[in-house]
Amino acid sequence: MTNTITVDELRKFSQTFVAREPERLGADGWWQTPLLAAAPVDSRFDQLPQIAADDHVLPQDLLATGRPVILFFIPFKKNLVKENRQGDRPCPNWGRAYVQTNDLIGRLTRALGNLLAERGFKSGQTPATHNCDEVRLMARWSHKHLAHLASLGRFGIHHMLITPRGSTGRPGSLVTEAELGDHPLIETREACLLKAGKACGQCIKACPVEALSEDGFERRRCGDRLTENQRTLAYFADLPESTRVCGKCVAVMPCSFKNPVAVQNAK
Ligand code: SF4
Ligand code: SF4
Repeated sequence: MTNTITVDELRKFSQTFVAREPERLGADGWWQTPLLAAAPVDSRFDQLPQIAADDHVLPQDLLATGRPVILFFIPFKKNLVKENRQGDRPCPNWGRAYVQTNDLIGRLTRALGNLLAERGFKSGQTPATHNCDEVRLMARWSHKHLAHLASLGRFGIHHMLITPRGSTGRPGSLVTEAELGDHPLIETREACLLKAGKACGQCIKACPVEALSEDGFERRRCGDRLTENQRTLAYFADLPESTRVCGKCVAVMPCSFKNPVAVQNAK
């Protein structure tokens, strides 16, 4: 047994795992190559109760001996995102992709945990979703906030994570004992054009229930829309009750497939 592991190994493992998923499903799959970042459990994570839920679990609560947090992001294929651009309601495949991606995130998290265990390192894990306080609509383990703190991405005006591969996809995370160091991926202080003082606001216009503005996020209004979609769309009837999706604010936006601030800065 080798008692070392590197971020590069974890990245390659994740890429292979996601690339094999279509074959396992016997379908094309919805995913592009995943991103993976790591950050030491340091004082930056102490702000989780302030920036996320006040009862947010800390990395050391998940694993007392945890040293770094590992964050990954599985981007959706562009054709799925383009399909979800049409109309005010999510397309059928957006719901299917949500369900299959949550399952994939769960299995990738466990597979990374198993790989770490083979090298002699424990890990602490939570599910991709279903840890949300239904009254406040706040997650007690927010992959998105952790990914922001670990610099896998930055929050946009639409309250989604914008990574170097954009905002259409889903994050997952785990805590481990392995010493990995700091491996951020986002290269700009902001990744949202509007937050960086540039022209945009396209997600604000795209939201069918006006839940977004430059000054804030009407979380309840968005949450009610997701619930309504799940309860009323006939083509979601065979999907689990937890399929609460919309995605109009990320469908073919300047930040859908890239960090637009980095692209503009490079010009
Ligand atoms: S669409 Fe524009 S304003 Fe909205 S999050 Fe993306 S970059 Fe920011
Ligand atoms: S997910 Fe839908 S309802 Fe919620 S903010 Fe985005 S566009 Fe609006």
